[in-house]
Amino acid sequence: MLQQNRILSRLLTGAILALGLLLSGTGPASASKLVFIGTGGVTGVYYPTGGAICRLLNTERRVHGVRCAVESTGGSVYNIINVLNGDLDFGIAQTDVQWKAVNGKGKFTEKAEKLRSVFSIHSETAALVVRADSGITRASEIKGRKINLGNIGSGQRETSQDVLKVLNLTEADLKLAGDISSSDQGVALADGRIDGFFYMVGHPNEGMKDIFYMVKARLIPLSGPGFEQLVKENNYYVNSKTPGGIYRGVSEDVPTFAVKATLVTSSNVPDEIVYLVVKSVFSDLERFKALHPAYANLTAKSMLEGLSAPLHPGALRYYKEHGLK
Ligand code: GLU
Repeated sequence: MLQQNRILSRLLTGAILALGLLLSGTGPASASKLVFIGTGGVTGVYYPTGGAICRLLNTERRVHGVRCAVESTGGSVYNIINVLNGDLDFGIAQTDVQWKAVNGKGKFTEKAEKLRSVFSIHSETAALVVRADSGITRASEIKGRKINLGNIGSGQRETSQDVLKVLNLTEADLKLAGDISSSDQGVALADGRIDGFFYMVGHPNEGMKDIFYMVKARLIPLSGPGFEQLVKENNYYVNSKTPGGIYRGVSEDVPTFAVKATLVTSSNVPDEIVYLVVKSVFSDLERFKALHPAYANLTAKSMLEGLSAPLHPGALRYYKEHGLK
């Protein structure tokens, strides 16, 4: 009887295991891996960008066994720091912040030797938004005013330091150098707690559309000799325009400079994982582009521009196989 029970239990265990394998698909699913992409505030473009990448990667989850998840974070600087310490597998970061990390500049006190680039995505313009009733019409007039420069860890906080330098100002010259997150700055502007904010972001984006609906605001040009010099000296910056016709009351393009959003990872992340991420996006680029209007101008070629960290070997393998490198 005991013997019979044991046989029955073994048969049952076998059947459960087989059922498990059947349900989870084939081999790789049993070695299921979770990868996290660090993004930005929920009202920005990084958050839906992480979502778009994960969506394409997760389509084939049953085949490759990798599940992708998105985290809302403080932004570029936070993402790079956490990719380097292994808390995140991937992160989205501005090209200027990527360059500074690789070269140990700005917030980065040492060179990020393990940082690897994967691809670049949409352009982000430097946007200085002020209340229409603030009296600010030129960038230099932010002196003595309450300006949100972005939360610690955001890309805009880092880039704002270059803008202040061009304007011959320091944070101490502002009445408030705010560290409010991008998702809270609209309400702060509407409440009058700040006169304006500085934001590096792709367009069009819903977060800014909401802000311009909530409060009468203006986009201030970041142009002129000082900014021309800034772009000339740093090749991660390009002359650009924040497009008109998107945000309420902004009908004309506003001259400024821009960076690109990029996907970064660490040399510790396995080649197969990075290859899968690249393949998911590049093999279905039209589907990816349909996921956010800020991707309108993306091409496979443009997505390999602006990368200062060495390409991850998993990404390089895909680009070589497809004649992109
Ligand atoms: N550029 C911003 C940053 O690096 C994020 C913008 C966004 O969330 O779309 O923090």
